Amino acid sequence: MAIVGIDLGTTNSLVATWTADGPMLVPNALGESLTPSVVNIQAHEVSVGRSAQERLITRPEHTVAAFKRWMGTEKVTRLDGHGYRAEELSSLVLAQLKRDAEAHLDEPIDEAIVSVPAYFNDLQRKATLNAARLAGLHVERLVNEPTAAALAYGLGDVDEAQFLVFDLGGGTFDVSILDKYDNVMEVRATAGDNFLGGDDFRDILLDEICRRHAIERGRLAAVDVSRLLRFAEALKIELSSRQTVTYGFELPDRTLDGSIERAEFEAVAKPLLMRLRHPLERAISDARLDPAQIAQVVMVGGATRMPAVRALVARLFGRLPLTHLNPDHLVALGAAVQAGLKTRSSALEDVVMTDVCPYTLGISAYNSGEGRKSGELVTVPIIERNSVVPISRSDTFVTVSDRQERIDVEVYQGENLKPENNVHLGTLSIAVPPSKAGRESIDVRFTYDVNGALEVEVQVTSTGERHRRIFKNRADLAEGDLARRFSDLSGLKVAPRDQAENRLLIARAERIYAETLGDKRERVAEALTAFSKAIEDPRNAHPERQREQFSALLDRLETDVFRDFD
Ligand code: AMP
Repeated sequence: MAIVGIDLGTTNSLVATWTADGPMLVPNALGESLTPSVVNIQAHEVSVGRSAQERLITRPEHTVAAFKRWMGTEKVTRLDGHGYRAEELSSLVLAQLKRDAEAHLDEPIDEAIVSVPAYFNDLQRKATLNAARLAGLHVERLVNEPTAAALAYGLGDVDEAQFLVFDLGGGTFDVSILDKYDNVMEVRATAGDNFLGGDDFRDILLDEICRRHAIERGRLAAVDVSRLLRFAEALKIELSSRQTVTYGFELPDRTLDGSIERAEFEAVAKPLLMRLRHPLERAISDARLDPAQIAQVVMVGGATRMPAVRALVARLFGRLPLTHLNPDHLVALGAAVQAGLKTRSSALEDVVMTDVCPYTLGISAYNSGEGRKSGELVTVPIIERNSVVPISRSDTFVTVSDRQERIDVEVYQGENLKPENNVHLGTLSIAVPPSKAGRESIDVRFTYDVNGALEVEVQVTSTGERHRRIFKNRADLAEGDLARRFSDLSGLKVAPRDQAENRLLIARAERIYAETLGDKRERVAEALTAFSKAIEDPRNAHPERQREQFSALLDRLETDVFRDFD
């Protein structure tokens, strides 16, 4: 019985195992280590990974991606007539990784170490544990993604030091500062930008291409926009390894011919590069450190391959970041290291981020002068983010108008000054004796415990009257509920493993067909029909040749965009 490490990512998921030679990634049925975290359900059959990803375009009503963002929420996605919560969709990904690992290692897997972002709150962590249970995996511990990345680099063996983990993925940017002492790896501070990632660099590059060729994106058909996005993505990646790229991209009525230099791309991407600085500075100052005290910087996430990002980090820290391991693999490899440590029963303690309050908690109030309602409504922090929990803090607020009878205590979570940009947790409406503005006051106390529950207690100063409310995390799944959902999910069939390559080729051809017109489209249609016939023919003993030819044709149709490479 083996235990594996799993990186359950927003875009891609990976599974790795601990071996005598260290951590090793496990390939899926296509021989690849990255399985896109995309789920397709059609006619009660589930497929996960690249073929599902191709169907995001051709069968959007049956396919879903990026559901990690909804972990711990009640959001339901309807697929094939059924509603699924994020944890159920995640369980389908985990079950797929489990099957892949069992096929590769040729032994049953029933236990895993699963990684989660350091800032995940208790609710999101519980949802991840539920997903694992639904997938038939026993998960005793979750590992924070930055800790896993540090472990992959062997930083767990260092005696005492502070590390910064710089994680720039497709859609988000996360910075974590880890402190290693006494065999404990503690997350000291986290910061980030949920709206900044590799996709923004792609979009800015596409804007530049559109500007150069005077294309108005709004006038293009949806398929052409999605093709252009794919083109810009490939162009961005080429620019990480080449100084200049020359391209020729066909639109229905014209061909975009041109070339772009890396320096030109970096110039238009400058505002995005500048935005990377802010969370770095915030994490360092929250951890009360000086950049010189950071022993190592670990780069995680595909977008850290951009030379400009590496150069920025080198400049800010005065040292080269660690980049010699593949940034896409780090978290899974680190989770496997943690699995290895666990089997030797010397698991490294990973102080989970719920030991720190990950967000600022506060209430809204008028910011200027007592008794004047003319001030602006702002968020007043009561518990600051990254405070060690349990913690209790209070503040006093006064009435703002004459004969005011109630004070509404609106509770918010988030870092924005404007309440409407933060997450509204709830309201306590408190009755106060009518009096002159500013005369009546309330004392608002916030207590945040280790389980992520927030207790808000309000006391009216003049009457001593107390009000209390607990903003609690949703309870664990009841066993009955879990059993019911387990049986719902087990009603789904799984796409057969030996068909994985054929299914991917068909899904990919269908997507290219949807995206092209004219000759290309006809060629795809003909080849698709011939291929489908060939693989269904029981007399065909060697479908590999047709598969290779078909795949080569699809590659040609997709990669004729770049004309030459320097
Ligand atoms: P992740 O979420 O960690 O898989 O990161 C995905 C992001 O990394 C996407 O925005 C990719 O475009 C980006 N990425 C992957 N490889 C490269 C590369 N060689 N150069 C630039 N960006 C890349």
